[in-house]
Amino acid sequence: MATINNNFSKLAAGYLFPEIARRTKAYTQEFPNNELMKLGIGNTTESLPPFLVKAMKNKLDLLSNNETYSGYGDEQGDTALREGLCEYYQRYGVSLDPTEFFISDGAKADAANIQELFGKNNIIAFQDPAYPVYVDSNVVSGRTSGFNKKVGAYENFVYLPCNEENGFIPKVPNTKVDVIYLCSPNNPTGAVMSHNQLKEFVDYARENKAIIIFDSAYCEYVKDEDLPKSIYEVEGAKECSIEINSFSKNAGFTGVRLGWSIVPKALIVEDCEAGIINKMWNRRQCTFFNGASNIAQAGGLAALSGVGHQECQNLVDYYMGNAKIIKEGLESVGLTCYGGDNSPYIWAKTPNNMSSWDFFDFLLNKCHVVVTPGSGFGPSGEFFIRVSSYGHRENVVKAILSIKENM
Ligand code: PLP
Repeated sequence: MATINNNFSKLAAGYLFPEIARRTKAYTQEFPNNELMKLGIGNTTESLPPFLVKAMKNKLDLLSNNETYSGYGDEQGDTALREGLCEYYQRYGVSLDPTEFFISDGAKADAANIQELFGKNNIIAFQDPAYPVYVDSNVVSGRTSGFNKKVGAYENFVYLPCNEENGFIPKVPNTKVDVIYLCSPNNPTGAVMSHNQLKEFVDYARENKAIIIFDSAYCEYVKDEDLPKSIYEVEGAKECSIEINSFSKNAGFTGVRLGWSIVPKALIVEDCEAGIINKMWNRRQCTFFNGASNIAQAGGLAALSGVGHQECQNLVDYYMGNAKIIKEGLESVGLTCYGGDNSPYIWAKTPNNMSSWDFFDFLLNKCHVVVTPGSGFGPSGEFFIRVSSYGHRENVVKAILSIKENM
């Protein structure tokens, strides 16, 4: 007799974005003539950089010919791409070995799956608010006894509040935890951790033999040269950190699908020596994953080259131009805004203590603009909304104009 994994029933409410889609659909059905402007989901909108397109077309040509066709590649990813990524990290003074890289079909799956490496009884800490995948994957894997509705948080998890008082940068845990998820630039708050702030976490992790899962999916949005793009810029981080990254947000690969994880050989935890966790992730990927698309990997390699990288930077600059318009627009109607400087997300405080969902409904009904309610990212996200700078410029301008006219 088969039984289900009951941990799924512990997941609180629906996933945030389906609920937004439900409310948006209901609105569109009621008012089919009102045009909606979407500044909600972090989905890219601009077309792929031409140099990357050319590389992927070339790869397709090779696959179209028996002489040059190739089937399955290495589960860990193409060697050229892994070597290219090593060079990319060298730009920030970070030395890594190609065997420490694992190419994936995007950061989301890695962010969800990486917890499989660690014991079921490990205590997990999360930034609050955070990208929901970290929490949800740990719920499904059975690390919580359930959702505590009274406090709006899961039992057994440690939440590291990110609020106005701490500039949305979490403090290191004041209890012993085993795994800590950090994301910088952060989704949803747009906050970026400084070198010193990251170092405090690295020091904590080394002292406690804890692991940091560092999600740097938005690192290409960091323009301030003093801010780190990789956790490995901090000394000692290779002993305690796994980094997850993606081509989604800088190369527009949200649909193409390509990312990577770095599992350093120096990584150690309580019950294993250096090298073991790298081997475990290698085994995991070889067993459960058949490698990223070879076409996507050709595009990824092109994104690392001089021309490709410049074209990706132009794409990032375009979205950052949107971020500036959004932030200035929201501030002009009196909203307090954070983020949006080294990040594509603007974290805006709701007016008059309105709840996140109430302000979401207000913006939907009065301004015809879709945003993301902050409370969907964790209890500390209440009284905030996340506004995404992914969108065509003309739609972003229209959305901000509508907010200015109707608020
Ligand atoms: N990590 C963070 C923080 C994200 O915000 C997202 C997507 O929005 C991802 C990872 C997923 O990226 P990918 O498209 O590579 O799966």
